[in-house]
Amino acid sequence: MARFIFITGGVVSSLGKGLASAALGALLQARGFTVRLRKLDPYLNVDPGTMSPFEHGEVFVTDDGAETDLDLGHYERFTGVAARATDSISSGRIYTNVLEKERRGDYLGKTIQVIPHVTNEIKDWIAIGEDEVDFMLCEIGGTVGDIEGLPFFEAIRQFSHERPKGECILMHLTLLPYLAASGELKTKPTQHSVKELQSIGLAPDILVCRSEHPIPEREREKIALFCNVRKEHVVAAYDLSSIYEAPLAYHREGLDQAVLDAFGISPAPKPNLDRWHDVFDRLTNTDGEVNVAIVGKYTQLEDAYKSIKEALTHGGMANRVKVNVSWVDAEVFDREDAAPHLEGYHAILVPGGFGERGTEGKIKAAQFARERGIPYLGICLGMQMAVIEAARNVAGVATAGSEEFDHEAGKKRFEPVVYHLKEWVQGNQKVKRKKTDAKGGTMRLGAYDAVLKKGSRVAGVYGSLAIDERHRHRYEVDTKYREPLEEAGLCFAGMSPDGKLPEIVEWADHPWFIGVQFHPELKSKPFDPHPLFADFVRAAVETSRLV
Ligand code: GLN
Repeated sequence: MARFIFITGGVVSSLGKGLASAALGALLQARGFTVRLRKLDPYLNVDPGTMSPFEHGEVFVTDDGAETDLDLGHYERFTGVAARATDSISSGRIYTNVLEKERRGDYLGKTIQVIPHVTNEIKDWIAIGEDEVDFMLCEIGGTVGDIEGLPFFEAIRQFSHERPKGECILMHLTLLPYLAASGELKTKPTQHSVKELQSIGLAPDILVCRSEHPIPEREREKIALFCNVRKEHVVAAYDLSSIYEAPLAYHREGLDQAVLDAFGISPAPKPNLDRWHDVFDRLTNTDGEVNVAIVGKYTQLEDAYKSIKEALTHGGMANRVKVNVSWVDAEVFDREDAAPHLEGYHAILVPGGFGERGTEGKIKAAQFARERGIPYLGICLGMQMAVIEAARNVAGVATAGSEEFDHEAGKKRFEPVVYHLKEWVQGNQKVKRKKTDAKGGTMRLGAYDAVLKKGSRVAGVYGSLAIDERHRHRYEVDTKYREPLEEAGLCFAGMSPDGKLPEIVEWADHPWFIGVQFHPELKSKPFDPHPLFADFVRAAVETSRLV
């Protein structure tokens, strides 16, 4: 039976609830406990799959093929526990389930209401898999007081009430704003947000207070008194130089101790924080730096490529170098020479993306990297662009392109080197898709096996010939073009086990040029950098030594 930790936020959004949850998960692991983290999102989308990365940041994909909130990426990076579809729950998903049950007649003629039908559905999700771990951490998106969030707050109130005493605690994150004029940290917003929680029947056991300045003892006492929380359970969260410092910082401030106290776990097992000391050491004791260009479309919002940014940091840690990332908007050189925009970088990464906008620029970036011998990592769309570039400029297929762009434009302009995938095999099952299918969740999603070519660069990088990685795409490189492309020198270094779907391509005679149809960034961790990112950064270091 798991113990449950509910994590809520107040005062303002973006306080770093996801990070606090992930760091707490890591600290509980360091004390020998098993954990699972879960995100409850009040928005009405069934999943974030159809939300724009501009607005919501990256979509994180799980092994079992769910498109989820990017906070699940944090959870995985900090705990190494692979997230599952059931770890991401939105109002849209909850209501869809309730309404489907209503249509099936499962509720036997009852009037369907938020309480109990919606709240029961939420409670059922919260409890999924509780027998498997010591602690289940459930973060509630948004801030207390949001209309949309109410059913979730009510559900955790009921859940905690129904469970035996001592099985659930509530941790609330707030902000202590600093008034420079009076030189004071203000506690009133925190008091108000706790009041708001109390008005819906919830009382926090632990308060995590974000603050830009040290919290004086006096303020801590005041918060404890007014918010009905023990003083030692008022935990400070200061700004950090890196998110990977969070487990050590929260431990210093006593978060994990407060949590174990709140559950009455005594004596508390001693933590082993070696992993996080090593991570911090690799991050801070670096020797040199490299400059990497990410040539993409969603460059205004860094969260749109969250996992890639993190995986590059991990790659830097593997090599003890600092990785400076520059966001380069591909659209800018759609119609002009790419060189002035790309010269000077030690490596180029073209990430995933959807739609035609900016793709001519990405194709030029692939060409620039190939011709200049600059390390190139193409991820998903970035691989497709590399293949189109090879087809156009080396294999003589002058009008090579992707069917995705013709579908979007409603007319045929390209020779479809990358085509719409309508049927594939997952495990022992055949999956079929039509162009007219609903948009959400209709891609090749989740973990798939791939077989690597003996002697290829990637086989060396992975140190294995059998891998599995996570996918999220509709289109696929057509094997019809394999022969001419291989003759041109582009090696198909990884294929699906049935040999039908190209998974990895590489230029054999290039210092480091790899395109992958999947998203390796989703599986990289600070304490276990993904081999592709570790080797990509190593190649960038080599390039930096040449110039
Ligand atoms: N748009 C491309 C496809 O659907 C690539 C998707 C991606 O990069 N994730 O195949």
